[in-house]
Amino acid sequence: MKDPLTDAARLERHRRLAAADHRHLWHPFTQMQDWLGEDPLIIDRGEGVELIDTMGRRYLDGVSSLWCNVHGHRVPELDEAVRAQLDRIAHSTLLGLASTASIECAEELVRHVPPALTRVFFSDAGATAVEIAIKMAFQHFQLRGDERRREFVSITGGYHGDTIGSVSVGGIDLFHRIFKPLLFDVHHAPQPYCYRCPLGKTLPGCAMACADAVEAIFAARPGQIAALVIEPLMQGADGMIAQPPGYLKRMRQICDRHGALLCCDEVATGWGRTGTTFAVEQEGVVPDIMTMAKGLTGGYLPLAATLTTETIFESFLGSFDSRRTFFHGHTYAGNPLGCAVATASMKLFRDRRIIEGLPARIGALARALAPLADHPHVGEIRQRGLMVGVELVRDRATKAEYEYPLRVGHQVCLEARRHGVLLRPLGNVVVLLPPLAMTVAQLEQLVAAARAGIDAVTARA
Ligand SMILES: *Cc1c(COP(=O)(O)O)cnc(C)c1O
Repeated sequence: MKDPLTDAARLERHRRLAAADHRHLWHPFTQMQDWLGEDPLIIDRGEGVELIDTMGRRYLDGVSSLWCNVHGHRVPELDEAVRAQLDRIAHSTLLGLASTASIECAEELVRHVPPALTRVFFSDAGATAVEIAIKMAFQHFQLRGDERRREFVSITGGYHGDTIGSVSVGGIDLFHRIFKPLLFDVHHAPQPYCYRCPLGKTLPGCAMACADAVEAIFAARPGQIAALVIEPLMQGADGMIAQPPGYLKRMRQICDRHGALLCCDEVATGWGRTGTTFAVEQEGVVPDIMTMAKGLTGGYLPLAATLTTETIFESFLGSFDSRRTFFHGHTYAGNPLGCAVATASMKLFRDRRIIEGLPARIGALARALAPLADHPHVGEIRQRGLMVGVELVRDRATKAEYEYPLRVGHQVCLEARRHGVLLRPLGNVVVLLPPLAMTVAQLEQLVAAARAGIDAVTARA
């Protein structure tokens, strides 16, 4: 579509919108005092893997519009799925009613996950999916008469969303510390962060002592742990912290040995992100509960799902007056528009053989990143599929960090913008999380822009 506005009219419209944003919006995870002093970049349109701002400038969507976009923007098949559903109905409830779109979505969904996960509980965000997983695990054991199993284990540095339950199992000090008085107690195991091992050990000599530390928590609380909640393969929000191979499998074994459930939060890692449809596949692990959101609708609409096994589902069955019902639900659970576009996205995974096409892209991204490994201010590059964190350090030898107020990650992203790429950092970690649809040439452009940003910012920081 050609933009019919003149440059002057565009600028006028941009200024009006920017002023209204500054007057009325409160942006998530954003220091609004800084925000109010800056001219905002306002996205007006999208096309393929590009975002277009109010001034008509184009940028590569380098973090998939916060990790959710899969096939690009304005994908004809997905647009059509939303339109077709709009012609039927935009919303009806799943409380006591069924809907065509949610049935078809669940039916398609279970084809893509490990076969044991046959039950789909819909909600609308990653945080709600995790909240549901926690309550489901808890109630499951209560209903089984195993009332002492009411505690949770999670991993330091985990991120599971921003509701109080999901923050309780989360472990990012910067985000979560202030809310501590509101949270329930969770056992946080040491983070498997090999580059900065909290146990001061190194692979392979350590024999994954961090996994032993998880087991020690279980062993010290026999019969009391309901579930382990974990981001499989890679902790996203704490800075793309990649787990050593075999770690997730160890987590499965620990849960099995101690009679606890394994809950894998695939909100970030799901839908091809790490190179397989779900990250758990890479370790041959089948979780008891799995959560997903971000990529589920291809990044179109807010839809989330908590999947579980028939065994857990059956704990909740009973006569009406047994009150075994799972008393949980969100008004927009299984929203038909979201379900219709999710179904269409999942069909694209099959029809376009997207997972089969990933190795070429993942390899190209790795090759483009390889020269950065020698950069004097790159401490570590962590890549799992199309999920990358480049950790910047002041000093490679000592791994000394850049000071928090310098915002080097943020500065790198501002610089990358000048090269036509939109990124969002995590502290001193530059994140590259492209839509799976990015071509090799676009992936190279993405890395080149990040590199230009890293060069410019580390030269002056
Ligand atoms: C983003 C994220 C969430 C939260 O999802 P929302 O839709 O933002 O609530 C939960 N878990 C993981 C692993 C995530 O990356």
